[in-house]
Amino acid sequence: TYVVVENCIKCKYMDCVEVCPVDCFYEGENMLVIHPDECIDCGVCEPECPAEAIKPDTESGLDQWLKLNAEYAKSWPNI
Ligand code: SF4
Repeated sequence: TYVVVENCIKCKYMDCVEVCPVDCFYEGENMLVIHPDECIDCGVCEPECPAEAIKPDTESGLDQWLKLNAEYAKSWPNI
């Protein structure tokens, strides 16, 4: 899965949401998250993010963000 990290906070771009083929972005108060069970790992969103806030889960040090994306995706609205 891909994961949204800190750089997303207060970013106003929604380019990632527009390109995602499975609509797996969810939106909270100040950032977006990716639902880990819905993401098909296509990677299309990563280069679209001007804030470089989208990372593949193969990168190290993302445990906290993976947990947060999973938690928030279940309680926030799909966009
Ligand atoms: Fe959507 Fe593909 Fe990005 Fe996953 S990697 S969030 S499926 S655009």
